[in-house]
Amino acid sequence: MIWGYFYMAATEKCATLHPHSVMNKQESHPEQWFQGVPISPGIACARVCLFCENESPSLPTERTSGRNYENEFERFQSALATVSLRLDEVKARVAKEIGPAEAEIFTTQQMILQDEQLIKSVVAGMQTDNLTCETAVHRTLSAFENRLRAVASDTLRERASDISEVKRRLLEVLGHGTSGFQCSQYVCRRGRGRIVAARELTPRLTVDLDTEHVQGFVTDHGGLTSHAAILARALGIPAVSGIPKADSVLTCGAETLINGNTGEVILWPSAATKARYPVARTFSLNAEPCEPIPGLKVYANINLVGDMAQALQMKAEGIGLYRTEFEFLAESRALSEEEQFQRYSAVLRAFPDQPVHFRLLDLGGDKSADFLELSREDNPALGLRGARLLMARPDLLRTQVRAIARASHVAPLNLLYPMITDAAQFLKLRAQVEEIMAPLRPGAIRHGVMLEVPSACLNARDLLKVADFASLGTNDLYQYLFALDRNNEQLAEEFKHDHPVFWSLIRDVARIAQRLKKPLSVCGEIAGQTDCVLKLQELGIDTVSIPPRLIPRLRRAVAAALYSRKKTVRTPKPIRQSTRNKARKEPSA
Ligand code: PEP
Ligand code: MG
Repeated sequence: MIWGYFYMAATEKCATLHPHSVMNKQESHPEQWFQGVPISPGIACARVCLFCENESPSLPTERTSGRNYENEFERFQSALATVSLRLDEVKARVAKEIGPAEAEIFTTQQMILQDEQLIKSVVAGMQTDNLTCETAVHRTLSAFENRLRAVASDTLRERASDISEVKRRLLEVLGHGTSGFQCSQYVCRRGRGRIVAARELTPRLTVDLDTEHVQGFVTDHGGLTSHAAILARALGIPAVSGIPKADSVLTCGAETLINGNTGEVILWPSAATKARYPVARTFSLNAEPCEPIPGLKVYANINLVGDMAQALQMKAEGIGLYRTEFEFLAESRALSEEEQFQRYSAVLRAFPDQPVHFRLLDLGGDKSADFLELSREDNPALGLRGARLLMARPDLLRTQVRAIARASHVAPLNLLYPMITDAAQFLKLRAQVEEIMAPLRPGAIRHGVMLEVPSACLNARDLLKVADFASLGTNDLYQYLFALDRNNEQLAEEFKHDHPVFWSLIRDVARIAQRLKKPLSVCGEIAGQTDCVLKLQELGIDTVSIPPRLIPRLRRAVAAALYSRKKTVRTPKPIRQSTRNKARKEPSA
């Protein structure tokens, strides 16, 4: 899959009209193709519902006589309290329906409401400049927002969207600027069963809507790093952004097909096009948990400590990959030893009797962040990333390893080393890790290797002799094996994991692991795809690690495939028992 990480800097490509434009005879509308940026996978085909989020740009400057400051101040305080309460409600709903990590997005907005500097500026506007409450709110929050939008950092620009949303919420409570649908249809369906087109995919839009029934999103703005894209992915709703003026290009009620895997948006698709792109959501929102099945161990991939609740709910048999770097990326800063210790211990407490695999920070490459203060690299994917970065930044390594060593007193754990290239590098990093851990007298820790760089797979024999276990990171392995940028939507077609070279490499690694009796699992995206998992099982790999939401679907699909295989194996005809055998089977008296 090519949409990669949520933190990846999304290039907001301009939409281009596809070279071909076909007349849809059935509807007598020309089929039109647009190319945008895929931000949430899946395919949807439905009529469009236009959603207009009022940005209230034309709010006139209003002043009070100067005597009304107290009145305005009270209105401001009450608006702050009301918005905060509404955010509490949204947060509770999101936590229940989507997950605690996603609910945290609204904590960010509540924190904006409590920001001292922001409150002071609004109050100063009302007190000193005699502005009305709404004018002061609009002026102050717009200034904060514009300042952040001007910064060349994706994270800060995403925070600007949060401020913009808080501004809209406050102005709405103060009686200005209502958002809403602009349905020209006789009955407005408010997005139910429709593809919603909007200027921007704000968290509010994705959550305040009856998202369970929305089929897809098409937007003008909103990158992969946006909170809303994270929510859309968590909800399993296909979404494409980067279609300029999406809310005017797409007309209300127009039938549209969106491909969240490739970024294609097709207005008035012909019957032939629809047949070529069958509608597919990545998963059902209300996935019922499924009990473990024999012959396949399914662990969960988690990114944040909060994700473990869902891993438990979906009956994961352990944590196969905890991408610890996400804890840092989500906070846009390096976490202290204590903060890391608290999170790691919480995960171990949740899974005391099942395997938990922590991956050492896999930062760098496309997972770079301002707080790392790295110098610019021409080729970050081939630069200071994973193990290399950890060796170059002893500060990061030391803090994390100490936190992990302390957490190991809670329960035994497994440690995965990211982006290892060969046995010598693994041994060097492992020695550094053990040296840092030694004074803390850690509990039981097994040291394993991520097999995600081709040289490591080709060196699997030497690596597995010195490592306790391994996990195949097929996302990066495919990227580096075929020189295919996993985050480049233009290469989506090629990123199909079906190349025989890839599978023969996996077969070789699997054989080596079996011979050396070292556990081998797969934690890349292919581990969630039924056909790939069946192939892995044939190669003797029976442990996979996948996002928690995908667990029930995978278990059911694999169980069904194995069942139908068994049925097709010709059942031998019953052998007629000879009287002698019958006699022998008679129970003795
Ligand atoms: C992988 O590369 O397959 C993997 C699981 O690691 P990540 O996706 O975090 O790079
Ligand atoms: Mg990887």
